[in-house]
Amino acid sequence: MLKKGSKLYSILTGSCPNCHQENMYQDANPYHLSKIADMNERCSHCNTQYKIEPSFFYGAMFVSYGVGVAIGIIVFIISYVFLKVELSTSFIAIIISQIVFLPIIFRISRNIWINLFIHFKEDKYTS
Ligand SMILES: [Zn+2]
Repeated sequence: MLKKGSKLYSILTGSCPNCHQENMYQDANPYHLSKIADMNERCSHCNTQYKIEPSFFYGAMFVSYGVGVAIGIIVFIISYVFLKVELSTSFIAIIISQIVFLPIIFRISRNIWINLFIHFKEDKYTS
């Protein structure tokens, strides 16, 4: 499932959505917060321009809302259903998870967003 050629690979690794050959970000670690939004302009392998239009990544904010909710639900199920903590404790866990995972949510949302518009083209770029 997690191999080059699947959208999940590009989404989870932040690699170029077109060729999966290199990282879109200048710093692969999302927890280096000062560089969280620093992306290369183009892929050096396939020359794909990541920022398709000037405010392209604003759309990723809608995705990040969905990703945040999804993580909240997962944390709720793990804490309340499986660990059987108090309801208030699980809400605190949800809030903490939203803060802790914020950099990952930010990056994943951008990756999902760009993968909606740019698709993998293997035959063209396998070297
Ligand atoms: Zn590329």
